[in-house]
Amino acid sequence: MSNGESKEETSAQHKCMRCSATSQSRALISVEFKGQSQWICAACLPYFIHGG
Ligand SMILES: [Zn+2]
Repeated sequence: MSNGESKEETSAQHKCMRCSATSQSRALISVEFKGQSQWICAACLPYFIHGG
C-alpha cells in the first residue's frame, strides 16, 4: 500500500475517452472499460451505454 496519498497532484488531467473533453467543461464519470479505468463525459455517456 502507498502512504503518500495526501500529496496534491495537479498534473493529472482526466479526459473523456470519446471526445477528450476535460472536467473543466463537462462532468466526467469514471468507468472501467476493457479492464482499464477510463473517463467518460456526461454528453458521451448515452453513446457509451448504447455502444455507439
Ligand atoms: Zn465526451
